[in-house]
Amino acid sequence: MMGGTNGLSKGGTVLLNASRTPSVWLQTLCHEMGHELLHHSPETRCVPRPQVEAEAESTAAVVLNGLGFATIANSAAYIREHAGRPSDILNALERIQWASRKILAGIQANLNAADVDDPLPE
Ligand SMILES: [Zn+2]
Repeated sequence: MMGGTNGLSKGGTVLLNASRTPSVWLQTLCHEMGHELLHHSPETRCVPRPQVEAEAESTAAVVLNGLGFATIANSAAYIREHAGRPSDILNALERIQWASRKILAGIQANLNAADVDDPLPE
């Protein structure tokens, strides 16, 4: 799929490039979930691409940092390459925080729903 692209957000579906490593899948999934939450409403369809990419990657950075992964340098490099200005992030802090909280809350809800007392299947 997608050649050089790591993933794609289609508004209800996220595609990940099967040729990548699990760590790239995780980072890409968080980035694409940022797009899913922030960039598929009619109001956001005209947001400039540098702003969109800064928001998605900043969301991924916050989520992965919250999960304990040291991927900030990867996110910073991506934002430098794809986003125009630091103001793209500063102007979107509330949106980034909202999306990050929503993703982390979803992960936590799934962890809470898992029955950790279940024995390991034999
Ligand atoms: Zn993106």
